[in-house]
Amino acid sequence: MKCYLKENSFVAELAAKKLKARCVAIVIGRTIHLHNTSKEQFLNDSRWVRHESVHIKQFHQHGYLPFIIKYFWESIKKGYHHNKYEIEAREAESITAGSLSIVKCLKKPAISRQLFVRNTMYDILSPDS
Ligand SMILES: [Zn+2]
Repeated sequence: MKCYLKENSFVAELAAKKLKARCVAIVIGRTIHLHNTSKEQFLNDSRWVRHESVHIKQFHQHGYLPFIIKYFWESIKKGYHHNKYEIEAREAESITAGSLSIVKCLKKPAISRQLFVRNTMYDILSPDS
């Protein structure tokens, strides 16, 4: 599954304000939008990459608009922390070798990464690579 990274994202900046967080990554479809973090910093944090890769899978499984609606509905009912889509993503953060392996870096190792989480292979690419 091809995924993309976007630095200095306006959407991520809005999310950062809403969440009162300094560094934010937010997935929309197959793009991971970043605020106050570089592609390199993000990709070097494997827990963070695993977390966001689960959201990419969720978008793919539920469909683009249905997932946005379901996600917001969960957030309204249960809040951010108890949102079942966030719980699933947090659980994947700590998956250790065996069920997850960061298989290999692609041609430009600092900005691209291939990883395997729960039977899905992700190729995280940056738009300018
Ligand atoms: Zn999340």
